[in-house]
Amino acid sequence: MKISRFVAAIPGSATLAISAKASKMKADGIDVISFSAGEPDFITPEPILEAARVAMAKGATKYTPVGGSAGLKAAVRRYISRRVGVEYGDKEIIASCGAKHSLYNIFFTLLDPGDEVLIPAPFWVSYPTQVEMAGGVPVTVPGLASDEFVPSIDALEAAVTDRTTAIILNNPSNPTGAFWSADQLRAIAAWLDRHPGITVVSDSIYDELVYDGREATELLAIAPHLRDRYVLVNGFSKAFAMTGWRLGYACGPAPFVAAMENLQSQSTSNPNSVAQAAGIAALDLGDAVIAPMRASFQRRRDLIYGLLSDIPGLEVVKPQGAFYIFPDATPLLGKRAGDRVIADDMVLAEYLLEDARVAVVPGTPFGAPGFFRLSYACSDAEITEGCARIAASLAKLA
Ligand code: PMP
Ligand code: GLU
Repeated sequence: MKISRFVAAIPGSATLAISAKASKMKADGIDVISFSAGEPDFITPEPILEAARVAMAKGATKYTPVGGSAGLKAAVRRYISRRVGVEYGDKEIIASCGAKHSLYNIFFTLLDPGDEVLIPAPFWVSYPTQVEMAGGVPVTVPGLASDEFVPSIDALEAAVTDRTTAIILNNPSNPTGAFWSADQLRAIAAWLDRHPGITVVSDSIYDELVYDGREATELLAIAPHLRDRYVLVNGFSKAFAMTGWRLGYACGPAPFVAAMENLQSQSTSNPNSVAQAAGIAALDLGDAVIAPMRASFQRRRDLIYGLLSDIPGLEVVKPQGAFYIFPDATPLLGKRAGDRVIADDMVLAEYLLEDARVAVVPGTPFGAPGFFRLSYACSDAEITEGCARIAASLAKLA
């Protein structure tokens, strides 16, 4: 059957493709350790499940307003007020079917053909594709591992043209786990003051998952005057272990949110009604349910960082947030495993899957050739065994 040129040009999500491949291998009885999925291994905390059960029993099984129920919007308002110190009204909040869906709606609402979007690299795989789908042009701005991957103001400035429409911030970052310090954000705010036409799309989905007692600051908290050109995106998947519920939200200027809502009214309508009820409980519980998971992630971060740092040929920056670690494997490229040349990170990831039976995501789809990403949202035993397998397979390269 015919497939449109528009859809035929869309590459599938690399992260989801590798996770699916690892799951299939496991289902086929192959002993694969998967570091591929950016998905907490925890079950959604019990009080959130209970809120969903109660909501179902009370008949929360119908359409809600397109942009989310009044109860969910009120919970988002309370949560953002508490965390960012900015008050958003109902008309400035829209709930969608996951933060990915919020971002998709944002790019379609924001971009005209040829509009450029600055994307600090390494970046989450879906940003450039979503920008392109919406007719925009992704412009990547690389950061250096030695600067914790945060691009310099000079690098951002050099990427600006008269078509620059937006910049995406992802703080903490998928795939690096790095985040921008308050000083770096102040510098960004001053730079944005010189570029009044640039909108900020801030994807804060990992903002609760920051370690060593540190906190990720939202740019808007430092520069509330940016509010009229700022869209804040967050969700439930990561901090609340709710990937399957498909719920996320965006906060922004009322006319922009109204336009997003029109778009959503013609596609998905409201996000799942039961998930919304669960989301209210999640936001109000906040740290009470997040803290134990955060503590586990920090312990696993320490474990995997120690193990990977000991592997010759890998250069590893200690991540400060999210649940990813992003080793630089360029010292290994060009080496051989038998007849096979490990020419790049794509071949390296294939080699690790076949030889070590370990699934990782290559760096290229994140805009960082030579690197690879591991998600440590898995058990200590998997981390220990998986890293031992990686070490053994990499030791064979000559
Ligand atoms: N942004 C980033 C950086 C992510 O890693 C993810 C993970 N899927 C999302 C957005 C989307 O999350 P979800 O759609 O599950 O809310
Ligand atoms: N965001 C997660 C990841 O990067 C989940 C998969 C996806 O939606 O890309 O692995």
